[in-house]
Amino acid sequence: MERIILIIKNVRNERLLKSELESRYTVITAKERDGLEQSFDMGIVDGPMLDEFHRRILLKRHAQEPLFLPFLLVTTRKDIGYATRHLWKIVDELIFSPIERIELQARIEILLRARRYSIQIKNRLEEIETFSHAIGHDLKGPLRAIKTFSSYIRDDCINHIPERCRDYLSRILANSERMEQMQDAIFTFMNTGCRGIVKEKVSLDNLINSTLEELNREIEKTGALININCSVELITDRTLLRLILRNLIENSLTYVDKDTSPEIDISCHKSEDYAIIEVSDNGIGIPEDKREEIFKPFVRLHSIEKYPGTGLGLSIVKKCAELLEGFVGVRPNREKGSTFWLRLPVR
Ligand code: ADP
Repeated sequence: MERIILIIKNVRNERLLKSELESRYTVITAKERDGLEQSFDMGIVDGPMLDEFHRRILLKRHAQEPLFLPFLLVTTRKDIGYATRHLWKIVDELIFSPIERIELQARIEILLRARRYSIQIKNRLEEIETFSHAIGHDLKGPLRAIKTFSSYIRDDCINHIPERCRDYLSRILANSERMEQMQDAIFTFMNTGCRGIVKEKVSLDNLINSTLEELNREIEKTGALININCSVELITDRTLLRLILRNLIENSLTYVDKDTSPEIDISCHKSEDYAIIEVSDNGIGIPEDKREEIFKPFVRLHSIEKYPGTGLGLSIVKKCAELLEGFVGVRPNREKGSTFWLRLPVR
């Protein structure tokens, strides 16, 4: 049976609610020994207790995320006039007193249904996490063994194997390399955001420069010219933003015509509420009908032989942008290539 906690000041109202709900739910009260520390599926709170309990309710809700822990406010029409918009961070629904029995039932059932769905989603997520763990860790060992022994054959026995088999061997090596990259990308995608969001002051200039240092080898190899115009500070999650920038810059270095050196412009501007970061390139561009699709996992517009990649970079970018409560998109660059834009809240 689902558990409902009553956080009700007036003893008589508390008793009435309890006797009304007891036939269908397990009903506990916040006045019992452990208060909100007890486990429950939803809370019913009245105005006076909301004042006293709002911090504890917020903490309890946060602690349960991504599970949805609903709270229903019982109030009078007169008192709701004082509600602020913060109220909807603490409660999800309200019911006016004097309470109509059928209305109470309906509100509780709707909220509990949402709670049940969130439990189902959480269970599915846990299954997916188990699989991603298997992909990230348990398959790594066998794959490494395939790579290692194939390279032993290449290094030690190459002269003893026929030409045709040498080709097979180099394919095994290339594919195991590719599989390792896929594994790493899937692992990054699945784990992005798992440690929660940690916001701090971030200088974009510094972050971009340190990201470019990580990509130094690719930049030198391609002879890329990179312009940065980003003297902006944000309160954001450094790790997620770095992941976004790294993926966008890596793509700008990759998707250029053969024999063309990449030219990349990274610019930022900031208003009171949000910042826009743009990464523009002189690359091959993206057809109009594919500009949304490329942000979905495993969508690639080119063969692996033509351009290397896993098809996960932009879905990682999108996931990070959503975790930062931002948006990402792409439009054609003025003359040639693409401009990827990112809109983020400044704090
Ligand atoms: P990948 O690992 O294949 O680069 P992404 O998710 O980062 O995966 O990108 C998906 C597809 O979008 C790429 O395969 C490529 O076809 C296209 N794409 C991404 N960035 C660019 C770009 N800057 N210019 C042109 N095409 C791009």
